[in-house]
Amino acid sequence: MEKTKLIIAKNNACDTIISVVIIKQKKIMKILIIEDEENLAKLLKKGLEAEGYAVDHLADGEAGQRRIEYNHKDYDLIILDLMLPKKNGDEVCREVRRMEISTPILVLTARSDAESKVVLLDTGADDYMLKPFSFAELLARIRALSRRPKIALSSDLKISDLVLNLNTKKLWRGKKEIKLTLKEFRLLEYFMRRPGQTIERVNLTDNLWDFDYDSFSNTLDVYVNRLRNKIDTGRKNSLIETVRGTGYRLADDKN
Ligand code: CA
Repeated sequence: MEKTKLIIAKNNACDTIISVVIIKQKKIMKILIIEDEENLAKLLKKGLEAEGYAVDHLADGEAGQRRIEYNHKDYDLIILDLMLPKKNGDEVCREVRRMEISTPILVLTARSDAESKVVLLDTGADDYMLKPFSFAELLARIRALSRRPKIALSSDLKISDLVLNLNTKKLWRGKKEIKLTLKEFRLLEYFMRRPGQTIERVNLTDNLWDFDYDSFSNTLDVYVNRLRNKIDTGRKNSLIETVRGTGYRLADDKN
């Protein structure tokens, strides 16, 4: 608090700026670490506490998700390991974002291929660090994330005149409500989060079906066609385009 007093003394003329400084200095940033490697977790907790952060630690995905669900307002940042007992970090991240909790999440991962990085950011993580990492770099990332303005996640996804509400799972095209099954909802949500992108079949099946999905079956096409029938009835162009030999794409600019 010494520092705060010094700033006040030197800046009598500009009250607004001073009050912002005081708030920042008084509020201790609280971080939740979800990490099952005990030694790493201990080291992180100790290091972050030495830097003036308040730190809580949990060691499995289920407990982590529960804590975030009920206590996310207590935390300014979540450090989330990917490979966790009971529930993996990417699932936790995805579900937390689905609940519209927008607390910044920094993922720690040992996976290093480019593909998994994309998947990671798709889950709604704000940033990731590959293990092993330097503590100085972690601190820099934490500072960067805490400077970002908190953006409330919108519960509506909108493409063209299609509006999908993520809470109620209701879909509207123009003024018409369209009823979806849960699987159709998930499929459309996946498309609407990636407008204009070609999505490979394997990405769709991996994300929307369990690992027992038979890659030779046409289940995916059946679902896509059902979805098309529902959203494109009476329209000239289909919003969901087939990309031959690859997968599908949701057009993002035509009606
Ligand atoms: Ca782990």
